[in-house]
Amino acid sequence: MKIQLKEIIKNLFKCRHIGALLYSNEGYCPRCGKYLKKSYYIVRCSHCQIKRTAKKEFGNIIPEDKFCTNCGESDFYIEKYEKLNFVDINYAIEVKEEIIQEQKNFDFEIWVENKDFEKKDNKMSNEKMFLPRQAKFLTTEA
Ligand SMILES: [Zn+2]
Ligand SMILES: [Zn+2]
Repeated sequence: MKIQLKEIIKNLFKCRHIGALLYSNEGYCPRCGKYLKKSYYIVRCSHCQIKRTAKKEFGNIIPEDKFCTNCGESDFYIEKYEKLNFVDINYAIEVKEEIIQEQKNFDFEIWVENKDFEKKDNKMSNEKMFLPRQAKFLTTEA
């Protein structure tokens, strides 16, 4: 697997939600304020369907070993669960996922900011209109 520098940088600045969802399945992250929900992922062999030991790497869920120890296949697929089954405890990867609703609020904030920028631009163009007149007045006085 090729590791891209862009991916590493992106993950360095991303909130890891440490200390979030300690006693619940969903709630707000104390570090970034995003609404989070727990999910569990299980990696299965696409040939024999056996559960494979998985790991998280740069935000992706991948099998720990390159090949299935049961049949030697390298292909796999990922299953997502809302709740952790006891039998999957050794295989499931816990992920604290950000809920989409929070992104809508984020879009709204951007829109408000853009409106402010427009206002600033208008002020600037008004100033530009007054400047030549002032300059003309100064030249006639001199
Ligand atoms: Zn967070
Ligand atoms: Zn297999």
